[in-house]
Amino acid sequence: MADKPRECRARVIAVRRLAAAILEIDLLMVEPPELAFAAGQWVSVPFGPKTVRAYSIASTPQSQKLLTLCADVAPGGLGSRWFRALAAGDEVRFKGPLGGFVFTRADPRRPLFVAEEIGIVPVRSIVGELYATGFGRPAALAYWARDPGWLVYDAEFLSLARRYPSFAYHPVMASATGPWQDAAGGLAEVVDRIVPDVEGLVAYVCGGERMIQRVRDRLVAKGLDRKAVRWEKFW
Ligand SMILES: Cc1cc2nc3c(=O)[nH]c(=O)nc-3n(C[C@H](O)[C@H](O)[C@H](O)COP(=O)(O)OP(=O)(O)OC[C@H]3O[C@@H](n4cnc5c(N)ncnc54)[C@H](O)[C@@H]3O)c2cc1C
Repeated sequence: MADKPRECRARVIAVRRLAAAILEIDLLMVEPPELAFAAGQWVSVPFGPKTVRAYSIASTPQSQKLLTLCADVAPGGLGSRWFRALAAGDEVRFKGPLGGFVFTRADPRRPLFVAEEIGIVPVRSIVGELYATGFGRPAALAYWARDPGWLVYDAEFLSLARRYPSFAYHPVMASATGPWQDAAGGLAEVVDRIVPDVEGLVAYVCGGERMIQRVRDRLVAKGLDRKAVRWEKFW
């Protein structure tokens, strides 16, 4: 069970650079010492009375003492500058856990995950938790990035797909021409190809608004109920 959202304090214990503009930080919870959350939830970092930035939890709920966040700092605004400046030993404050972009195991439907670049963060937590805790049913992931360097969790998903044949992993890279040029076109095409039948499907789509709309429209055109497309809009 996820905790109710509350004010939290944690300490940065590690910072890793996964790509030129993608950073991961490990946070050791201080107050409360453990945070129960559901995979796919996020925390809200305050920057002023009405200014916050949201960061999804990249790690799985099996670890409640140590949380990982992962950010694309290329946008360069308040949140990116804060993330970029974090160093081991810093104390951070946030509110969490928040959000309903979560997959419950009791849902009998077959999940399709679709992520655009940093939109992979909540999906990594959901998929990681499912397979670490014995989810034997089929699931698929389509993960788009502009180039291989931005596909930061690629090795992890490849390894998961090798170990669990029921997990179908479809990395997608931009190409100079055709529908694959951008995330919206590329992911809509891949979803079209890998989903011949929407019966019993539930989709989890995360990234930019344009991509979410295109993928949702494609799935709805194939007959999926609009409500069966869950989404988290990062930008
Ligand atoms: C529920 C939720 C969870 C989120 N989780 C994460 C996360 O785990 N990791 C993460 O990096 N971000 C995440 N975000 C986005 C994050 O909250 C910030 O918007 C992002 O870090 C940019 O903040 P900023 O202050 O640097 O730039 P801003 O000044 O707020 O944004 C500058 C512009 O860039 C756009 N933008 C923001 N992010 C991107 C992006 N990645 N690519 C292209 N354009 C973008 C914004 O819409 C805006 O137009 C999440 C957002 C939401 C709503």
